[in-house]
Amino acid sequence: MSFEKLGVIKQLLKSIKDLGYEKPTTIQKRAIPLVLAKSDVFATAQTGTGKTAAFGLPMLQRLRKTTADESRAIRGLILAPTRELSIQIYEDLQNYAKGMDLDISVLVGGKDIETQQKLLKKGVDIIIGTPGRVMELVSKGVSLASIEIFVLDEADRMLDMGFAKDIRVIHPLLPKRHQTLLFSATSSDKVRKLSKLLLTKPDFVEVSKKNSTVETINQVAYLVDTDKKAALLAYIIGSRNFRQVLVFTKTKASADSLIAELKNDGLKCGVIHGDKTQAHRLKTLNEFKEGKIKVLVATDIASRGLDIEDLPFVINYELPSIPEDYVHRVGRTGRAGKDGIAISLLDIYDVFDIKAVEKLIGKKIQKEVVEGFEPDKSVRRKDQDEVKIKSEYKSAEKKQSSKKYSTKKSTFKKLDSKKVGTKKPAEAKKAPASKKRKTTKRD
Ligand code: AMP
Repeated sequence: MSFEKLGVIKQLLKSIKDLGYEKPTTIQKRAIPLVLAKSDVFATAQTGTGKTAAFGLPMLQRLRKTTADESRAIRGLILAPTRELSIQIYEDLQNYAKGMDLDISVLVGGKDIETQQKLLKKGVDIIIGTPGRVMELVSKGVSLASIEIFVLDEADRMLDMGFAKDIRVIHPLLPKRHQTLLFSATSSDKVRKLSKLLLTKPDFVEVSKKNSTVETINQVAYLVDTDKKAALLAYIIGSRNFRQVLVFTKTKASADSLIAELKNDGLKCGVIHGDKTQAHRLKTLNEFKEGKIKVLVATDIASRGLDIEDLPFVINYELPSIPEDYVHRVGRTGRAGKDGIAISLLDIYDVFDIKAVEKLIGKKIQKEVVEGFEPDKSVRRKDQDEVKIKSEYKSAEKKQSSKKYSTKKSTFKKLDSKKVGTKKPAEAKKAPASKKRKTTKRD
């Protein structure tokens, strides 16, 4: 099957050929004809499957201008969850639309809204943006009444990020007759509910098993102690001569402290997370893409949508809080059929969390140990100890209070209130304290 056979027009065929796309990916084969036929589409597609072109190419084709067309209204709207993804979609569409007379704009926060308003006044055919900024522009008078194609990309992520309300406000502003394309990495209940609100008699396209990780990614996990993770990471990068690696942490704080450690090790690295400015995030991402920095440390803000060509390695320094994010993180590698390696560093906490990931992706991830970084078997989970101590403390307290209750009952008359009052806390303290010591010793 070729792009030509899918009905893609010459102008677009030329640009995708220049980009090196030889044949359509599965999602493109299935979605392009449906979009060209003006159907509403609900597509579940994994990250890296070529979904941007799956909606972008037919969208550009449908919205191309004929000579008689002098419309200055916005006819295409693409909503994406993050600024980075919006910018990436914009760049992809600009590449596809080379030589077509279409004005495309990206509208994200962090950029001057008045400049964006002026640009829209001049006439723009397609806008791409985050729901928040689009809502802001609408409140300033931008009209969505001429939208012909409405795309929601990464719909599941948008819902996770709390954009459901914005989408519900934007949707009624679109004309009754328009085409809606909903793309989502997963098809959760929430996404299906949203699809019922937005789509009319949609065609369904599902190109991958729910939450399965891309076949071409080799996944491996190394068992290591928490305090040796940074050293192991530096060792892996150095000893295997990784030239470009994306490292994920669970929190902004651990991203910052990891960066400090890696810099100490002399590695060229950068960090992107929610506390960094948009300008910083873009600059760092570009430096990473250009190879000026070797290691990019990121929180899950970067786990979706970012397309870095030929990214061979992704390392989970910490597993994400939500198992689904693992799929999106490792999906940064092994893109468009290329091989990729995803390494997870598992301490005693992650060893527990990886089980939820394995359940989700339906396969076991191989666990290994790196020589010199073998985990110390006597190290225990702090929280487990705490949980144990707390529960023992509680049951000791319970026993104590029921004992006191019965004692009180039988000896109430013999004891004066002062004695009971001094005895109580002493007893309560004593029992759990001895338990506590016992637990610590045993463990
Ligand atoms: P996406 O899932 O849209 O983020 O695309 C993932 C990557 O695959 C991007 O780098 C695209 O440029 C690339 N890509 C998309 N379609 C094709 C294709 N048909 N052939 C080769 N690469 C493609």
